[in-house]
Amino acid sequence: MRTVAVTKIGSLRDPAEETRGRIEVVDFPEQPLGAEDVRIRVAYSAICGSDPHLAEGFFGTDVPIGLGHELSGVVEAIGERAHRNGLQVGDRVAGNFLRFCGTCAGCRAGTQQFCEHIQDYNRPGMAETVTWHESQVYKLPASVSLLKGCLLEPTSVAVRIADKSNARVGDRVVICGGGPIGQLVLQVLKLNGATSLTLIEPIAERREMALRHGADFAIDPIGEDQFQRADEITEGRGFNVVIDASGSSRAVHGLLDIAAKGATVVYGAMYPADFQMPLNLSDYLYLKELTLTGVFLSPYAFPRALQLLPLLDLDDLTQSVFDLEDAAEAFAVHVSGKFPKVVLRCNDIQDTGGAA
Ligand SMILES: [Zn+2]
Ligand SMILES: [Zn+2]
Repeated sequence: MRTVAVTKIGSLRDPAEETRGRIEVVDFPEQPLGAEDVRIRVAYSAICGSDPHLAEGFFGTDVPIGLGHELSGVVEAIGERAHRNGLQVGDRVAGNFLRFCGTCAGCRAGTQQFCEHIQDYNRPGMAETVTWHESQVYKLPASVSLLKGCLLEPTSVAVRIADKSNARVGDRVVICGGGPIGQLVLQVLKLNGATSLTLIEPIAERREMALRHGADFAIDPIGEDQFQRADEITEGRGFNVVIDASGSSRAVHGLLDIAAKGATVVYGAMYPADFQMPLNLSDYLYLKELTLTGVFLSPYAFPRALQLLPLLDLDDLTQSVFDLEDAAEAFAVHVSGKFPKVVLRCNDIQDTGGAA
């Protein structure tokens, strides 16, 4: 079965060919269909900002490493006991690439993100098929196309970031980073009643995208003084909710200074493993009573992400589509930053839904 994989560890941005990481289409065996499993013929699988980190060896260096966790497709086969969700062969679906076991200490404590068995069903989705436990699979609303449905997983991350932000209706909200997660968080928090909704982002196209989707303001952190702009926007009070979706150790500097007293700051990205952020406890935790938090996985978020999908404008995130065979080229376009999201078409499937 054709599957996109990292076949050589290294940065995909490395200009030197000898040390650059490599993405190829390789042959992996199809996973067995267990009694509670569902086999999905994959329609679309999107490249995630975390995929280049996998190529760098962040989660291990044993190649080949199969890729793909943001996918949609059609149910092709159902295990003999996989009937608890009412799934049928032919259903259009998306889902969670991780299975939460429900039985370990983390799951039983209501913290599925710390499930000790999440790797058991973590299978590459940039492939012809993927076989998941039925608990991972969600039927797409009829109005959501398969192309947009592959964004269910990143939307679940946006929902989880919104959860951790404690955002209340009317809160002033700023988001740092206008990549796919930042854009999705922006749309989700707009629906949630955010005000003075601001995106901080150096790329002009991404600022414009945010303004089209409900941002009230956009700040260019390179061409403008972001502290002065934040002061103007919030009348000197700061933002009640500050979200980093950039993952950039440079960009996170200063975010605590645009936070209001009592604000929540969510670090909603992956960061360089050796990055240390200096933190003045007296200024930020004692005097300002900030709440600082982060996001690892997105448990309990998929059902709500599914509700939100028809309400989101996903056109800008589904402009760049490549065939599975052209995965190496697709990754080159992804790292070039030319499109906010790059999607692979894994099979040519006739879509029976998707008015939205
Ligand atoms: Zn992802
Ligand atoms: Zn568990």
